[in-house]
Amino acid sequence: MSKGNIGVTSDNIFPVIKKFLYSDHEIFLREMISNAVDATQKLKTLSTAGTFKGELGDMRVRVRIDKDKKTLTISDHGIGMTAEEVDKYINQIAFSGAEEFVNQYKDKAEAIIGHFGLGFYSAFMVSDKVEIFSQSYDDNAKAVHWSCEGNPEYTMEETIKSERGTDVVLHINDEFSQYLEDATIEGLLKKYCKFLPVEIAFGMKKEWKDGKQVETGEENIVNNTNPAWTRKPADLKEEDYKAFYRELYPMQFDEPLFHIHLNVDYPFHLTGILYFPKIKNNLDVHRNKIQLYCNQVFVTDEVSNIVPEYLTLLHGVIDSPDIPLNVSRSYLQSDNNVKKISSHITKKVADKLAELYKNDRADFEKKWDDIKLFIQFGMLSDEKFYDRAIGFALMKNVDKQYFTLDEYKAKVKDAQTDKNGDLILLYAQDADASYTYIQRAKEKGYDVLLMDGELDVHAMSQFEQKYSEAKLGEDDKKGALRFVRVDSDVIENLIVKADKPEANLGEADSDALRYTFEGLLPKNDKANYVVSLENVNADALPVFLTQNEWMRRMKEMSAHQQGMSFYGQMPDSYNLVVNIAHPKVQALLADIKAATGNSLDDLNQQVEALRKEQAAAKDNNTEAKLGEDKRDFTKEIAALREQIKQHYQGEAIHGELRDKVSQLLDIAFLASGLLKGEALAKFVNRSVELL
Ligand code: ADP
Repeated sequence: MSKGNIGVTSDNIFPVIKKFLYSDHEIFLREMISNAVDATQKLKTLSTAGTFKGELGDMRVRVRIDKDKKTLTISDHGIGMTAEEVDKYINQIAFSGAEEFVNQYKDKAEAIIGHFGLGFYSAFMVSDKVEIFSQSYDDNAKAVHWSCEGNPEYTMEETIKSERGTDVVLHINDEFSQYLEDATIEGLLKKYCKFLPVEIAFGMKKEWKDGKQVETGEENIVNNTNPAWTRKPADLKEEDYKAFYRELYPMQFDEPLFHIHLNVDYPFHLTGILYFPKIKNNLDVHRNKIQLYCNQVFVTDEVSNIVPEYLTLLHGVIDSPDIPLNVSRSYLQSDNNVKKISSHITKKVADKLAELYKNDRADFEKKWDDIKLFIQFGMLSDEKFYDRAIGFALMKNVDKQYFTLDEYKAKVKDAQTDKNGDLILLYAQDADASYTYIQRAKEKGYDVLLMDGELDVHAMSQFEQKYSEAKLGEDDKKGALRFVRVDSDVIENLIVKADKPEANLGEADSDALRYTFEGLLPKNDKANYVVSLENVNADALPVFLTQNEWMRRMKEMSAHQQGMSFYGQMPDSYNLVVNIAHPKVQALLADIKAATGNSLDDLNQQVEALRKEQAAAKDNNTEAKLGEDKRDFTKEIAALREQIKQHYQGEAIHGELRDKVSQLLDIAFLASGLLKGEALAKFVNRSVELL
C-alpha cells in the first residue's frame, strides 16, 4: 500500500469543494456517470481501431445504492485505469491560479469543476470517503484500489477485480442521505442522463402484478442512447420527430407545429432539433424549455445566453461541445462561438419559416395564428430577423384572409389613401364589439384587419415606424403607414379624403353647446373628456366619443412593458364630438338658446368691449407706457366667461332640456360600450319617461 498527498498547487482543494460548492451539488452524479461513459466510449474506440482485441461484452454503466453501507456505486466496463494512471489522472490535479478563480466563482460549482477538470472530485461534495476499484483493459496491469477521505491524503494499493473497468464507490455523507434514495437518483438520472450514448442501468424494471409493483428480471435502463437529434434527418420520419418531442416533454400534450433539425460541422459543432410549439395567446410558454446538451450529457435548460430571447420560446434540444459551458454568463455573451451559434440558429429558423411559407402557403396560413406571437416577438427584438420575416409575416383581416404587409398595402391602397397620401390601415381588436363600425367601413369599401394578438399593438407601431414619412425616401414620401382603430371615430374621420368644412358656429352658440355638454359629462379621475364641436355628417350620431389612437396604444403597451407604467396610470382621454351637422344637435341648440333668452347679452357685450379695449391697448401702447394703469385684460375676460359657463352649467339647463342633453350623452357612451351600472339604469328609466 502506498500513501501520498494529492498534488494540488493550491493548499487544499477539499475545503473549496465542500464549502463553496453547495448550490449545484447534485451535478456530482452527472460527473461520475460522464466519466464512466467516457471510459466506455474510449474502449469502444480502441476496439474499433483494433488496439483492443478482447471481447467488449456487457458495456452497461450501472448505478447502485447500498442503504446499509450508505454507498452509491457507479460501475463501468470501460478502459479502466492502471495504478500509474490513477496517480496521473486522479492524484495530480495540477492547476494554476486556482485560488483567484475559486474566489471569483465560489458559488458556481459548475464553473470551478469544469474549469479545472475536477469532475471526479465533485464526489467529495456529498461524500465522506470515495473509493476507486479499477482494472485496466490492459491485462498485464494489476487492479488498483484508491481511497480518500476528503483530505489531501489518499491510499493506493493493489487489489483483485475480476471484471474490467472501474467502480467508483461514494460513501455518502449523512447530510446528503437523499442521494441514497432510489427516487432521488432516478430523478437525477432522468434529468442528466436521459440521452447518454451508453446504456445506464439503475435497478430492475418494475411491473404491476396482482395490484402490486414487482421487479422483473430485466434491468431498468434510464436512457435512450440514440436520440433523434443524433441521427440523420434522412433516416427520420415525421412520426419520429413527434415521438422524440413526447420523449423530451412527457407532460406536454399538444403536438409541435413543425421542427428544424440543426446539423453544423463548421465553424463549430452543433446538432439539435428545435420545435415550434403551439403558442397560445399568452406568454406563459416557458414551461418546456430548450435543453442544452454537451455530447448527449444534459447541461442546462437555461439557454437564454446562447439563443436570442425570442428563440427561447421554442422547444427542443441543442447539443454542442463548442459552447463553453462552465463559464460565467457575461463571458458567454461575449464569446465568439456563442455569437456565431446564436446567429446561425436565428438564420436556420428564418430559413425554415421562409421555406414553409413558400412551399405551402395554405398550410402556413393555418399555422400562422399559433406562430404569430413568436414571429412578432422576433421581429420586434431583432432587426435581422425582421428583415427576413417581413417577407412571410402575415396579417389577418376580419374575414380571416391572410396577407403579407406588401400584399395588404397593394390591396387597400386605392380605397384607403387619405388626402395627404398616407395609407390608413383600419383594424379592430374585438370583431364582435366593433361589429357596426366594421360594417360601416366595409360599406365604404374599406378593409379591416384583426389585431387581437398580445404583440399586435407593438407590431403596428413597428410598421408605422418603418414606414413613417421620415424613413421613406423622397420619392414615396406619400404612403406613410398609419393604423387606425375602426371604432375610434366616425367613418368620415377615419380616412380623411378632403378638408372638412369648418364648424362655423358663432362664439355664443359654441359656448352654449360646449358648456352645456361639459356640465353634464361624468366626472371621475379615470377618464378625461374634451368636448369638440365638429361638422361631421347628418347621418352620423349626434354626439359620440372618440379616443386618441396614440394614447390608447401607449396604455395598452404599458400593460406588457416595464418602465411604461406611467402611461398605464394616466386616465383614459376621450373626445366628445358634438356633431353640429346633426338636426338633433341643431334643435338642441335652439332649445338652449330659447331657455337662455337674452340673459347673457350683457355678459357677452362686456366681453366684446374688453376684447376691443385689449386690442387697442396692444396697438397703441407698449407695456412701459401703460404704467400704473396696466390692466390684465385676459384675466378680466376669463372671469366674465367663467360666469357665462356657470350660467350653462347651473340653473339655465334644467328639466326636460337637461334630460335631452343627458340622453344624448348616454347614447354616445352606450355606442362606445361605456355606459354601465347606475348610469345605464338611469338611461333606461329616462328613455321610458321620454317616450
Ligand atoms: P475530466 O473527466 O474532465 O478529465 P475528471 O476529474 O472527471 O476530469 O477525471 C480525470 C480523469 O480520470 C479522466 O480524464 C480519466 O482519464 C480518469 N477517469 C475518471 N473516471 C474514470 C473511469 N470511470 N474510468 C477510467 N478513467 C477514469
